[in-house]
Parts: sequence; C-alpha cells; structure tokens
Amino acid sequence: MTNTARKTGIVQHPLYARHCMEPGHPECPERLAALYTILREPGMQGHFEEITPTKIAKEVLLIVHSWDYIESLEATEGKSCTFLDADTRTSPDSHAAALMAAGGLCCAVERVHAGELKNAFAMVRPPGHHAKRSKAMGFCLYNNVALAARYAQTRLALSRILIVDWDLHFGNGTQHCFADDPSVLFFSIHQTGSFPGGGRFRKIGKDGGKGFSIHIPLLPGCGDGEYVALFEKILKPVALEFNPQLILVSAGFDPHFNDPLGNMRVTPLGFAAMARSILDIAEQCCEGRVIMALEGGYDLDGLRDSVRAVLKELAGLQQTDPVEIMAAADPKKLKYVLWRIRRAHGRYWKSLQPSLGDKADSIPSFFERVNEWLARCLVYLKS
Ligand SMILES: [Zn+2]
Repeated sequence: MTNTARKTGIVQHPLYARHCMEPGHPECPERLAALYTILREPGMQGHFEEITPTKIAKEVLLIVHSWDYIESLEATEGKSCTFLDADTRTSPDSHAAALMAAGGLCCAVERVHAGELKNAFAMVRPPGHHAKRSKAMGFCLYNNVALAARYAQTRLALSRILIVDWDLHFGNGTQHCFADDPSVLFFSIHQTGSFPGGGRFRKIGKDGGKGFSIHIPLLPGCGDGEYVALFEKILKPVALEFNPQLILVSAGFDPHFNDPLGNMRVTPLGFAAMARSILDIAEQCCEGRVIMALEGGYDLDGLRDSVRAVLKELAGLQQTDPVEIMAAADPKKLKYVLWRIRRAHGRYWKSLQPSLGDKADSIPSFFERVNEWLARCLVYLKS
C-alpha cells in the first residue's frame, strides 16, 4: 500500500455514548452524535477508515493509574450513579466506556505506528486529560492520552513523544504523569484562571523533566491569530528540536468562540491551522504520525464545525496555511506571553533563547508588565 492510499483512522464505538452523567450535563452523548454525522457528509466519505477499538489491558492501565483507583472505578460497573467529584459521576456503563476510550486510543497508536493509517482521530468519551494517577476529575476517568503515550513507549519501544493539549482547560492530569520525565514533551495552551487552575508559565517540569512541560496560560479573548502564532513561534521550533517519534493531541474544542464553558475566540479555521502546524512538525519528525483524542468542546455546532475542519486537514482534503492565520494576531496580546516563555524555557531550548526578531518578540516595558499582571489578577478574582 502506498503512502498516498493511507487514510485517516477514526475511533468510534457505541459504548462511548453509554456513559451518561446527568440530564443537561455539558459532557453528554450528543457530542459524539454530532461528530459521527460529519463522516456521512458528501465530500467526507471514502477518506476515513473506522478503527474498531478494544478495551485497554489492565497491565497498561497500571502504568499510569494506581491499583486502588482502578478497583474503585471497577466497583462502579452496573451501578446507576456514583459521584467521583463535584462534576464527574458514572452511570452503569461508564467504566466500560472509559476502558474502551483509552483502549481505542492505543489501537489508533498501534495502527498509525504500523503504517496502516496515516494519522487518526479518536472520537471517544469520557475525556481524559484531567484524570490523575488516583483521581477522577473534570469529567475524566482514565487519562486516555497519557495511557496512549505509555503504551507507545512500553509496547512499541518509542522513546520520545510529544503531547499537545489545546483544550481550553489545563491538562493537569497529563502534566502530573510526565512532570519529571524528559521522554515526553508536554505543551499545554489554556485559558488562565479556568478549571482546574495551575498551568502557569513557571511550572516547567521537575528534576530531569525540567524544560519538558511548556505551559501557556492565555488571557480570555485570544483567537485564531494568537493561538496559531504561539504554535508557530513556540511549539514548532521546540518540537523540531525535541524530534518526537509520535505526536498525541488532547484536542478539546472548548476554545471555540461560542463554547459555554470558555471565553476564547477560536474558529474552525483556527483549529484547522493548529492541526496543520502539528502535521508540519509530524511530517518533519515522524512520518506524519499524529493521533488526536477528543477532550472538551460543548457547543454542539461549534464542536462539529471545528472537528470537521481538523479532519479535513488530517485527511489532506484542505491545507490551511498557519502563517496566513497568525498574521491576524494582536502583537500586544503575544508580547508578554512570548517574553515569559522565553524567560522560563530559554535555557532548555536553543530555539527559545531571547530574540529581538519582531515587534511581538521584544521585551515588554515595566508598564506593559504591570498591565498584564493586573489583567491576570482580575481574571483570577472573577474565576
Ligand atoms: Zn476543556
């Protein structure tokens, strides 16, 4: 089979819709129903291949999660409702769905790694990036992306994995797993002050993992230009230095301008440009091996339109130019962020050493820094 014949894999399974929390909960089965319709649209048919998932094996689960925690989730099977935290609960099939979600991502990793598919998108529930070793959190039970990364390292002998998390919320569970691990570069761009907190510039990882956690907390109101500029100016150069063998993406669509949980302004075109930026990295480093996993995204129309745009990039049906999109960035919104990232990470990455290349890359004045600090304080006070 030639490279051009390879398709984009899609993980889907009926179990994912059988995890139900409560009526009116934003993380609802209808989210997937909205996505599955995309694949039946004219122009999309014939470009995707379904990946039939299997449940993740317990020995893989145990690399990331504790025995006690796994047993506590197993105990929820068949029970009508178990509360795990303030906004996370289970229904009778939730645990089975969670095993199948993490397993689905591992199946996608396996198929893409084997060269049978060129890349993949896992349309799974429940999401995973807030789940910690022994704690369910923020609608997440098992950490799907962290498990897929460990699966790739232990079963496929890959040593360097890049995880990009563009969900509105900080991927605290994933960061928790890899904070001291230089084999996984974790890049998270998120809305400052939003659930669950954390994800600050200065949290760069610990011990041998210093420099391998890159956190970009953004003020509300950032859109396509700012997001894509940070992908091109921070993520891309660092990722090319790191040279990953596989890229996993925690693809949350709650930075969408209409999302009820966020205050960002990303459009489907912006998500497409971020996907293209990641695909560019993957083509240079790892033969295009990218696997995306659904995390958040709660406006059903926004979710569907954004995922469609991303799928078109993955399948090669469109090629958005990130450079064109980043031209719309407001240099005032970028200046402070670029300065903080370069200060925190310049010593670990050659490509982030201070540069005076363009207006946005210059050092903010004292007045600009105070202004930004006040704006961030205000966001924290409101949250
Ligand atoms: Zn989110």
